[in-house]
Amino acid sequence: MEYSHLNYLINDVVLLGLQVEKRERISLLIKNDKVCVINDMKFFHEENTFNFNEVILNDQDFAFLDFIHKNHSKKEFVLVKNCNYLKLIYFFTNEKYLNNTFLDKHGRIVQGSIIEKYVKYLEIPIVDILIRSFFLKLNIKIQNRFTITLTCDFDILNFWSGISKKNTLKLFLNQLRKNQFSLFINQLTSFLFSSILPKYNYYLSKNMYFFKEYNSESIEVKNIAFLLIDDTNKKHDFKNNFNRPILKYLTDLRNQGVELALHPSYDSSGNDKLIKKQILKFTQLFDKTDKVRYHYLKVDYQKDLRILEHNNICFDYSFAFADSLLYRGGITKRFKIWNNVDNKPFDVKIVPLTIMDGTLFDYLGYERDSDFLDVSKKLELSFEHGFEITTLIHNNGMTKMATKKDISFKLNSLIINFVKKKLKLHDAN
Ligand SMILES: [Zn+2]
Repeated sequence: MEYSHLNYLINDVVLLGLQVEKRERISLLIKNDKVCVINDMKFFHEENTFNFNEVILNDQDFAFLDFIHKNHSKKEFVLVKNCNYLKLIYFFTNEKYLNNTFLDKHGRIVQGSIIEKYVKYLEIPIVDILIRSFFLKLNIKIQNRFTITLTCDFDILNFWSGISKKNTLKLFLNQLRKNQFSLFINQLTSFLFSSILPKYNYYLSKNMYFFKEYNSESIEVKNIAFLLIDDTNKKHDFKNNFNRPILKYLTDLRNQGVELALHPSYDSSGNDKLIKKQILKFTQLFDKTDKVRYHYLKVDYQKDLRILEHNNICFDYSFAFADSLLYRGGITKRFKIWNNVDNKPFDVKIVPLTIMDGTLFDYLGYERDSDFLDVSKKLELSFEHGFEITTLIHNNGMTKMATKKDISFKLNSLIINFVKKKLKLHDAN
């Protein structure tokens, strides 16, 4: 273990995105196979050095993780013990829990990619708990506001551009056959005028954002729109036409405080040319962006962060298991990943995704209201132990023309109510 490793863990993982008191008083030391972190010349943490390429957890590490897993929900759960904080934080954030052979049909890391014995630790934001405990031991006070980022992936901007002429005709004939005249008129109007007047384009919802002006000392709410601007894959990308009504809608969003960012197309992972092309197009349409979220969360970090770095992207929002509510990396907070080839951290900051609508309908088969208890549980758990919550609702789920049984709609109102509740509760204290 070298100083570059220790510096990375402290500055780019533990402290990244956090404001702490007198940060300059924290000093780092490696000596005789020990690594030491000292705060204010008084408080210190010491642990054995470990191999960055091959981290092996010992019995003591497992005992500590089990202790957290068992006790984290107890009231007044405080944890200051001698454990290998840095090793464990590195192990989880850099995903040493994966068996690197299993990827899903889209080539993504999913729940099935995790070595079974580590799955249970990802049920909780274990790294955030470790960080808080580490700070407690070092007497470091966190001064941050909790960040809630509401995001939407605009895969498709108009319902009618995702349906063939033949199917459109079928849809209308069906409505007529069933005597659904008002529905027919409604949708026919949308079909005829949606590309001219935004109010007839039912995919241009704004309901997944939180615009209300408020002043909270403890919570910060941000809004981001990730836009799919190129179709490079016939099966998985939609062709979006950025015509005047759509540009007007997006400009309105931006004026209301929604940041516009890039949603790289399905084949963009590992493809520098495609990323370059889309960034150029995005810049011509809007302005520069320094944020991406990959379509389908299809990303291979050791390859793609290098590409993003070269293209001046500073933040990636794709870090999650698409098929599961487990905490990927065991963390809610932004951090950097270690570049195994160049032996240094990647410049791009990873912002973990806490929850997305697609997980619920495509993988977990949500139907009843009671299914959403797990979502509420995850939001509360993240709020209690973590530092950030980032959510994803697709715009096409937020309309009466949605095909996925109201799941996005229900999840969205759950999230918005959560935000409102926390803003109110917190500021009442
Ligand atoms: Zn997408």
